[in-house]
Amino acid sequence: MKYPGTIVAAMLVAGCAATPSSNAPAQAADPGKSAGVAAPDAQATEPVRESFRDWLAGFRSEARNRGIADATLATALDGAEFLPRVIELDRSQPEFTRQIWDYLDTAVSDTRVETGRNRLAEHRDAIEAAATRYGLRPEILVAIWGLESNYGGNFGDTRTVDALATLAYEGRRRDFARKQLFAALEILDSGDISADRMRGSWAGAMGHTQFIPTSFQAYAMDGDGDGKRDIWGSIPDVMASTAHYLAEAGWDTGAPWGLEVRLPEGFDYASADGRTRQSASGWAADGVRPASGGSLPQLDDAAIITPAGARGPAFLVGPNFRSILRYNNATSYALAVGRLADRIAGAGPLAAAWPRGLAAMSRDQVEEMQGLLNDAGFDAGTPDGVMGPNTRGALRQFQASIGLIPDGFPTFALLKRLRQTVAES
Ligand code: CA
Repeated sequence: MKYPGTIVAAMLVAGCAATPSSNAPAQAADPGKSAGVAAPDAQATEPVRESFRDWLAGFRSEARNRGIADATLATALDGAEFLPRVIELDRSQPEFTRQIWDYLDTAVSDTRVETGRNRLAEHRDAIEAAATRYGLRPEILVAIWGLESNYGGNFGDTRTVDALATLAYEGRRRDFARKQLFAALEILDSGDISADRMRGSWAGAMGHTQFIPTSFQAYAMDGDGDGKRDIWGSIPDVMASTAHYLAEAGWDTGAPWGLEVRLPEGFDYASADGRTRQSASGWAADGVRPASGGSLPQLDDAAIITPAGARGPAFLVGPNFRSILRYNNATSYALAVGRLADRIAGAGPLAAAWPRGLAAMSRDQVEEMQGLLNDAGFDAGTPDGVMGPNTRGALRQFQASIGLIPDGFPTFALLKRLRQTVAES
């Protein structure tokens, strides 16, 4: 799972990826993952170190009061380090958002599909046991594993205690990090893992499928029966924990996450906002069809999404798509999980093409667009450079007002039209 404001989150979602603090899950996705956290050019200055030490002493006595054993506190905190690089990463904001097709090219690459098939074959017993126990398809678990850590190849080597202590001391969301740090100490106290092996992303997400400590406490499982929940070294534990998480997030056994669909001529794009929901048969009555032909599968409470607007592919997504969002609250992420799972299971490419010619907008341009939408009387909220539901809604209204398809997808052409409209008003 993720922290708010990650690249992918900024791309498509309302503000932020679901942090476990809010509605659930477990991890901090991409942000932490590949971060070489202890960059040599990012040494803490002496005064910072000293004041971090003071802070840590205070935190330690509070943890002791909460009942964490002294021995645990000693192994976890005696050598705890302030990591300047973590603060840098926590504060960085991408100048350009990524277009979803660029993200999916990497997230669901042919190599990742093939590796996923190999990993599934390699760990079939463990993966199928978890999938069967919690009622999901094995490929969904493999896909989450692939996206969260490239199948364990890259789950981060930062000591979780160091990452969270740094963020609790000086991060953007100190209360959240502090809560996670207490949870991390409780996990260490329970003996599931040692402080040195408790590692993961710079943002505090741990192990193969990137659980944050409170998610670990709520959902981690001992899949191999050795009495410990080890999401760092035991694939049966990783799979059971991940499947448990999704099951608790409301997974509907037997239902697909969704599928690519073809929208009828004259389709009302105002209803493709991801929020308008009805059964698949209701959408079928509106003329929505599977892109691959045939008839729609049964899906209750399904929504249409068009992540690249009317020029790109459309998808019908059901309750399981929303369960994946509980794991990591970015539409692009959930779509990547679904697509990677399908491809691992043998599905081919999408039927519709992405509008690859459209360049991504910068934060500044999105912010300008938000200001112009407000000036033109379409409420985009306070301009912040991030495409969220309010901005999309305002953009749809603007598009409708000038006779364009209201798909809410930002483009330079629309920005120009807006400048013109506001200048002429
Ligand atoms: Ca175990």
